[in-house]
Amino acid sequence: MISETAPHVVVIGGGPAGLYAAETAALQGARVSLYEAKASVGRKLLVAGRGGLNLTHADAPEVFVTRYRGVQMPEGWWVRCLAEFPPEMLRDWAAGLGIETFAQRTGRIYPREMKAAPLLRRWVERLRALEVKMFVKHRLVAMPSGASAEWVLEAPAGEVRVTADAIILALGGASWAITGSDGKWTEMLDSIGVSVQPWQAANCGWEVAWPEELVPRIEGQPLKNAAARAGAVGATGELMLTRYGLEGGIIYQLGPELRAMAFPELCIDLKPDQSAEQLRRKMESVRKNHLQETAVRWRLSTASHALLAWRAQREGACDLTDLTRIVKNLRVPLLRPRPIDEAISSAGGVAWREVADDLSLLHAPNVFVAGEMLDWEAPTGGYLMQGCFASGRWAARGALAFCLKARNIHR
Ligand SMILES: Cc1cc2nc3c(=O)[nH]c(=O)nc-3n(C[C@H](O)[C@H](O)[C@H](O)COP(=O)(O)OP(=O)(O)OC[C@H]3O[C@@H](n4cnc5c(N)ncnc54)[C@H](O)[C@@H]3O)c2cc1C
Repeated sequence: MISETAPHVVVIGGGPAGLYAAETAALQGARVSLYEAKASVGRKLLVAGRGGLNLTHADAPEVFVTRYRGVQMPEGWWVRCLAEFPPEMLRDWAAGLGIETFAQRTGRIYPREMKAAPLLRRWVERLRALEVKMFVKHRLVAMPSGASAEWVLEAPAGEVRVTADAIILALGGASWAITGSDGKWTEMLDSIGVSVQPWQAANCGWEVAWPEELVPRIEGQPLKNAAARAGAVGATGELMLTRYGLEGGIIYQLGPELRAMAFPELCIDLKPDQSAEQLRRKMESVRKNHLQETAVRWRLSTASHALLAWRAQREGACDLTDLTRIVKNLRVPLLRPRPIDEAISSAGGVAWREVADDLSLLHAPNVFVAGEMLDWEAPTGGYLMQGCFASGRWAARGALAFCLKARNIHR
């Protein structure tokens, strides 16, 4: 039974970051109230579970931390945050809920059942057992300003005003607004003078002006075991050719580089396991119809061959030297990222210069921020979820430390 005199911590936003912040604060003895705008918590978590919930990754710690990027992100912050809550702790936590996890050959870690729903159900039960009070359909609409210390939420029965010893905001990013993460909270933070980096789609597809006649030959086809570059940065994996452009791990990973380019362009190596010289040798005896012959001699899929033919025609290239150059470096000019609402995650959010090391706002030291609402991004692979849990925990520990310090001062 939590004491009535325990510090009161309010968490706003019921995604993984908010739920884990609530759990951490409750385990440290706080009275916790959690407010969520939607009719239930964890809606984006459930969406994430549709294609298999990639909880975290088995990367070595020194590699893991390199996945996180953000504008003026303080050096070493993720090293410390993830050292406090490494991937093994996330796996142990899931095991504590009775959710066994496994690592794929790629290092990605999933629940054995792949789904998010059983995990979320048991998580909510645990939070209830920890006496976390959960209020759904409560949307934060105003932050304290002037002399008022009240946080204003819109609820079905009318306006609710809340005060707390510490507040943790975990309001999410700006993709998949249907799940509740609509990024609209930025106006509220702006209004109290907290700067927010503009939203950008991350881990998203890109549009390409494919010629109409090419679409039927490539649409829905994967380019497996491909390699590609955006400028000097490379990535390997899969690309999916779609009617509107490109999707898939490679292009998600290269998002930050592509967004920084004035004329974004992806250079794809369609035969990364063979050198240009090896490919040339395979075509040595061919005297005519080089382009047709590449399909068989280079074992190109229908889609790869169609792409090669498209670029060769566009560049007016047809001899073997040209074709070898193109197959190893197929240039695909990109128009723009797909709309942010479709993106798996978003870059942008509360600027790092606005927060202290414990994730409290410099403007308001009893207010903490966590999860995707902070200005960091990471590729798919479980890094997003791990970052949300770890930052939620970090913010909760900061909030509790703040409460204890405030009490000692006032004693
Ligand atoms: C299709 C898809 C697949 C994904 N797959 C994976 C994956 O396999 N692995 C992985 O690591 N990541 C994945 N992600 C990303 C991951 O789901 C997010 O990074 C994560 O959910 C962010 O957690 P969060 O707690 O910061 O925010 P969110 O989960 O977005 O939660 C924020 C919550 O705050 C609430 N809220 C917002 N504004 C207010 C307000 N004003 N008042 C009250 N409440 C409010 C929202 O309703 C929401 O419930 C996926 C995302 C998508 C869209």
